Amino acid sequence: MRIILLGGPGSGKGTQAKMLVEKLGIPQISTGDIFRAALKEGTPMGLKAKTYMDKGELVPDDVVIGVVQERLSKPDLDKGYMLDGFPRTLGQAKALDKMLESQGKSINHAVLVDVPDEELVKRLSGRRTCRNSACGAMFHVMFNPPKADGVCDICGSELYQRDDDNEKTIRERLAVYNNQTAPLIQYYADKDLLRKVQGVGPIEEIFGRIEKAIL
Ligand code: AMP
Repeated sequence: MRIILLGGPGSGKGTQAKMLVEKLGIPQISTGDIFRAALKEGTPMGLKAKTYMDKGELVPDDVVIGVVQERLSKPDLDKGYMLDGFPRTLGQAKALDKMLESQGKSINHAVLVDVPDEELVKRLSGRRTCRNSACGAMFHVMFNPPKADGVCDICGSELYQRDDDNEKTIRERLAVYNNQTAPLIQYYADKDLLRKVQGVGPIEEIFGRIEKAIL
């Protein structure tokens, strides 16, 4: 199954993607994670991406599409995959259609995790992420605090605040989402692929809504 996860920054699509990975046994492909990993390694692509990420802007389409093209050519995707954070522009969506067409494949579902803007700002400004990228667990200082301050409940690594999870950058990311990514909702609705689920409430409940929409 090939699934696209759509939703604003902080909508919880990354968390839901990880739960779907467990359930469906298909890999999660997160372009944000790919950029953060490249930056950690100090590659030119990672350093270039950082200049956009720090401002809350989108990395240019040609860079993102190249990264996804390379990832989609890997041999571990026979059973399908979940795209988390891609596509984010109409240009990327059309490029993805072309890539899939050339492989004789198509998308099964585009799941929109729907959360109001003000809720997104509250969530992102308190978000804390596990530094261990193999774990990647997320917490919230108020809504889902870790047992010990600054320490991941799951693997014991340090928790940190992402550079782009500050109020100014969050507002910019939201504006970018509403201007450039939200048009994809109509794009996938027109193709009869859109599955809209309410992204507010307990994580397990949201997951149940997604399962109902796609299984
Ligand atoms: P995320 O982890 O998905 O919130 O992405 C963090 C940042 O990485 C975004 O704010 C963008 O700067 C960049 N990014 C991730 N995916 C994309 C994409 N598909 N297109 C453009 N920029 C992206």
